[in-house]
Amino acid sequence: MSEAGLHDLGFVSTVQCETFGEPGNRTFNITAKSNRGEATVWMEKEQLYQVGLSLRQVIVTRETPPDPAPFDSEQTNPNEYIYVEFKTGDMALEHDPAADVFTLSAQDMTGDDAPSDAITHVRFSFSREQANEISKRSAEIVAAGRKPCPLCTAPLTPGVSHFCVKVNGYNPTENPMGRGAD
Ligand SMILES: [Zn+2]
Repeated sequence: MSEAGLHDLGFVSTVQCETFGEPGNRTFNITAKSNRGEATVWMEKEQLYQVGLSLRQVIVTRETPPDPAPFDSEQTNPNEYIYVEFKTGDMALEHDPAADVFTLSAQDMTGDDAPSDAITHVRFSFSREQANEISKRSAEIVAAGRKPCPLCTAPLTPGVSHFCVKVNGYNPTENPMGRGAD
């Protein structure tokens, strides 16, 4: 794979996820910053949800090594201050078990039809603590857009029927628990 379009921020000082806009019309991103530059990766809600879930899976299934190895990542172009912002199609998560460092890679989706060396990629690495923050925050963000069920308080997903534990699977918005036909 050509790496001409690859920007590696290395180990970042800050990484966070954010949402903008009104419920039903929200946008989502992950931003990261290091001494090499900064990146803003826009994504769909489902993609942010998946990132949070993948981070959580690694956090719970792999332990921090007793003596973590130093982490290093090659700087592809040392003279360049990286500044990238794009909407991503493909993302990949890696975990270096020796250093206990997480690396997220994202590819600019507008490059899908471009020659491979013209596609912008960004990659950045972060600690378990930062991974934990992103995982928690992304779950809050994803859940925040959904109204709670008035009966069981589980978040409702628009367009997906809700099997409410309080009413044996009837959708409370279609079958309000009234006082009966009187
Ligand atoms: Zn319910």
